[in-house]
Amino acid sequence: MSVDVDISGAVHTGRPHIVVMKFGGTSVEDAAAMKRTAAIVAGRRERKLKPVVVVSAMAKVTDQLLAAAAAAGNNDRAGAIALAVKLRERHLATAGQLITGERLMQLAAKLHQEFDALDDLLRGIAAVGELTPRTNDLVVSFGERLSSRMVAACFHEYGLEGVHVDARHCIITDSNYGKAAPNEEAIEAKLHEHILPLVNAGKTPVLGGFIGSNDAGITTTLGRGGSDYTAALVGGGLYAGAIEIWTDVNGIMTTDPRIVPEALRVKTISFEEAAELAYFGAKVLHPATILPAVQKSIPVWVLNSKNAANEGTKIEAMAPHCRSPFKSIAAKKRLTIIDIVASRMLMSHGYLKSVFDVFDKYKCAIDMVSTSEVSISLTVDSNEQLPAICAELGKIADVKYEGRKALVCLVGEDIRGHNGIAGRVFSAISHVNVRMISQGASEINMSFMIDEEDVEEAVRSLHRVFFAEPDENVFDVVATPAASAV
Ligand code: ASP
Ligand code: MG
Repeated sequence: MSVDVDISGAVHTGRPHIVVMKFGGTSVEDAAAMKRTAAIVAGRRERKLKPVVVVSAMAKVTDQLLAAAAAAGNNDRAGAIALAVKLRERHLATAGQLITGERLMQLAAKLHQEFDALDDLLRGIAAVGELTPRTNDLVVSFGERLSSRMVAACFHEYGLEGVHVDARHCIITDSNYGKAAPNEEAIEAKLHEHILPLVNAGKTPVLGGFIGSNDAGITTTLGRGGSDYTAALVGGGLYAGAIEIWTDVNGIMTTDPRIVPEALRVKTISFEEAAELAYFGAKVLHPATILPAVQKSIPVWVLNSKNAANEGTKIEAMAPHCRSPFKSIAAKKRLTIIDIVASRMLMSHGYLKSVFDVFDKYKCAIDMVSTSEVSISLTVDSNEQLPAICAELGKIADVKYEGRKALVCLVGEDIRGHNGIAGRVFSAISHVNVRMISQGASEINMSFMIDEEDVEEAVRSLHRVFFAEPDENVFDVVATPAASAV
């Protein structure tokens, strides 16, 4: 099928029937979860959609593989193999609960073959006592290789024609092990070669997220949490109609339901808004990873595999206009404010650079900055390097720092069209001591720093003011029960 792409990049005739469905670690954590996943995929087929499935490793497996690799790298062969034995037992036990008969025999043989290769690899690493980034990627790739085989086999059992595809044949990357960059052109070609014929033949391809390979066929990974990225690359490369990220939350919420039980699901949000929220603490997904989808105007849905009836959140390039100025309130705790009072003139040439160079040297990321004529205040994630950073800054300034601070961030594209928003925000929290304020250059977020112990109350007050009468086009009208909203 040919695809018309106009010069602005918008897709006219993609493949609206293809839906890329990504299931995270908790959606494949055990046999029950894998069966739920199969049922969700079957539901999409009933709607005449053609799913392509991307899965993460079973929950916690990636961490355990990394621990095994690290143990082997420290010459702890027995420790590494012990971890691999546990993983083998868990995967085989799960397989036994998923399927039976001849199919189970075939799957178990495949799993044993993979685990034998993993054991050999770990022994090899332990023998040299050296773990390179390249070998680390190879070890950690087993998580997705195993889970994708199991999910594909389980699909067969539930009437879906699941076909396992090794993601490393499709996701072509550079050789930056641990955080490889995809080659989108090469990926598109490989998807057309390996995935499209299966889809056209009515099968359901299943591939592992997170893993890829370079031009030479050597295994790479896209970085932690990289399965979302895989889903976006697959969706983008196939010009799919939609991408679904299945996780264990009901989508993006108006705020953290653990703080505000009345928090509402946000039905639709723009890519930019979702990006701001992710940065400031909402953990649903990292929007940079869905860029390949957004660039082709493919909507991305965040859905809950433990509550499949829930409609989730749609993330799209342009969100519809909303009556409320904000879509969501995020809070990030455990921050430290650093006040730097210049001992020579702050704005003199090169001064700010010398301050930021110190943070750069210690690889310390800065969240928020504000300056006056004589001082700079900035905030950082609590960082063990802080005493060293402050000692070094002490050579060029008077420095004080104070921990246990929190950042509250209100996000919404409709801030732009509203007057008096800041007034409403700060009168809602007039009883709270506000330390720093910033309205981002993106004009879609308003953030301020307060003491950590004031966060709950501030977020509750703001939620009461801004979501008392939410726009029902954009938000749920009633809160989702807290039990399934966490
Ligand atoms: N399994 C990988 C991780 O835990 C990738 C993913 O799940 O997105 O980081
Ligand atoms: Mg994830």
